[in-house]
Amino acid sequence: MTVSIGVLALQGAFIEHEAMLRRLGAHAVQVRRPEQLAGLHGLIIPGGESTTMGLVAERWGLVEPLRKWVHSGRPVWGTCAGMILLADRAVGQKEGGQPLIGGLDVTVNRNYFGRQNESFETWLETPGLGNGPFRAIFIRAPAIIDAGPGVDALARVAGREQEVVVAVRQDHILATAFHPELTNDLRWHELFVEMTAQAEATEVGQSG
Ligand code: GLN
Repeated sequence: MTVSIGVLALQGAFIEHEAMLRRLGAHAVQVRRPEQLAGLHGLIIPGGESTTMGLVAERWGLVEPLRKWVHSGRPVWGTCAGMILLADRAVGQKEGGQPLIGGLDVTVNRNYFGRQNESFETWLETPGLGNGPFRAIFIRAPAIIDAGPGVDALARVAGREQEVVVAVRQDHILATAFHPELTNDLRWHELFVEMTAQAEATEVGQSG
């Protein structure tokens, strides 16, 4: 079956995600309005600027529908700013805070690795993905500094004082601090398409 995966297209790197999904044979849909979530099997929240994305989402009436999406147990993947938006708790936010969607039981530090000039690339050991390490691109990237018991760490890097977690999965929620859509390696997208297909199969099984 072909899964339909939405990519939140308010701001940031959504076109790159769409291209990766198409290469994997999934149906990719740009999401800008709440009603566009209907009929989708999975959703990607891309990287960009979490404050801007959150404000635009608020203005366009998307925050509540996105919260509902996440809490209903449908698959969602946040990359970078998307990971921040999915976090239950964030530190290093703009004054006055920012709207978060939440659902992922972690605390993120929004600009853990510093500003733009501190963007970097590194090889990550990602046993869950198979086929050796993954070349990860970090751009003003957040890191997970605390996580609840239901959260599996999928990748870590050396942080300022200790190792920090940069990829996690909690049931149907996947989050990566880096940008797999800017590489040529399809493995993270493959994992998400698989999560989505599996969730869909379970759903169909239950309702049928
Ligand atoms: N740190 C940025 C933020 O707060 C995210 C950067 C990114 O998505 N590349 O939104």
